[in-house]
Amino acid sequence: MSKQKDLKDFEEEIRQCVKCGACQAHCPVFGENKKESVVARGKVALAHALLEQEVELDERMVSDMSQCLLCGSCFDKCPNLVPTDEIVMAARREITEKKGLTSFAKAMTAVLKRPALMDALAKGGSVFSKLLFKAVPEQSGLRLRFPAPYIAPDRTLPEVAAKPFRDRHPEFIQGEEGQPTVAFFTGCMVNYMYPEIGEALLKILRFMGVSVLIPQGQGCCGLPALSAGDAATVEALAKHNLKAFSGGEPDAIVTACASCNIGMGKHFGTLGDRQAEIAGKVQDILAFLVSQGLPEKLAALPRPAEVRRVTYHDPCHLRTQGITKEPRALLKALPGVEFVEMEGADRCCGLGGTFSVYHYGTSKKIGARKAPGIETSGADLVASACPGCMMQLQDTIAHAKLPQQVIHVLELVAGALPE
Ligand code: SF4
Ligand code: SF4
Repeated sequence: MSKQKDLKDFEEEIRQCVKCGACQAHCPVFGENKKESVVARGKVALAHALLEQEVELDERMVSDMSQCLLCGSCFDKCPNLVPTDEIVMAARREITEKKGLTSFAKAMTAVLKRPALMDALAKGGSVFSKLLFKAVPEQSGLRLRFPAPYIAPDRTLPEVAAKPFRDRHPEFIQGEEGQPTVAFFTGCMVNYMYPEIGEALLKILRFMGVSVLIPQGQGCCGLPALSAGDAATVEALAKHNLKAFSGGEPDAIVTACASCNIGMGKHFGTLGDRQAEIAGKVQDILAFLVSQGLPEKLAALPRPAEVRRVTYHDPCHLRTQGITKEPRALLKALPGVEFVEMEGADRCCGLGGTFSVYHYGTSKKIGARKAPGIETSGADLVASACPGCMMQLQDTIAHAKLPQQVIHVLELVAGALPE
């Protein structure tokens, strides 16, 4: 039996929706297609009708429930704190139970469940990348040369790393005596696509004297499976990660990906007492670094002659946890950085995990709404704290033909430190 909540477990929360409509103006999906059934109020009403067996679980219901980024923007503005994202995830589990997974979700979760298969595919992808991809002119990122299932032909993708991050490092890196020990949950995107973020994290932790555990047996955080409504895969991955993170007694488990942070820190913690204990140690790396006094250390570094203008995009999975000040504190303390806010920094980038696969047209339109803020900020670089957002922002920038590059806050911090 699944340990995850059924739609029935949300009966009380569903009833708390007073249909005030305060969520409407903040739902990125509603902003594009103006359909009442996709805004939080509409989805909660659909979930209620489903519970009361007043509607069929038909194609329309499946499509409406799939049109959610799980961004939490509605929850932020809801006077009754109705957890629409959780309700949608429970509805998707119910859909999967009754109708099975979509072909994309089947293919995706089959790979996620098998880290060895993911490793093999990533290595194959890296070897054949020259054949499969072309560089997008004057932009960082790649586009497919040939049509491929589930990937839109105009979607910009990062390159697959020649060697995954976890294959490059030992399981334990000793720091200085008296300093904390952290375990690093790398997540799939850092491991296979953005290993430079992991390298930056290690350089910063070395500078801080922090010891680092990198459990080799770790797997995906489970968020893509959660978003697809695949309860069994979420639980298999939780079991896998429980084993990987049970040793070593670190002071914290750090993530460099906002989505992994919410997967390992929030959802994983609902699956059992031991999982809750481990989830209680999960911290976003930027919040951890601020708690360790890194901004003060950065402010004391020598100032370089060259100054770059940097803006910041809030990933939804950090914003909804209130982690908005820490990335800015680090950026503002960096020598050689002039921090500028962009308009709509807290607006969702439009990725939403599987949402951008099923609804790339809408995902692209939501992303496009970030472009004017990026352009008028006058920034050279757009920093963020989530590899998924980085991929989507780079895609948005490529479509808008803007000159900015997207970078993780950690890469900027590491670049300012002495070698
Ligand atoms: S803001 Fe909350 S209570 Fe109001 S309609 Fe939206 S979900 Fe319902
Ligand atoms: S979670 Fe985001 S996309 Fe989903 S209903 Fe709420 S605001 Fe809309």
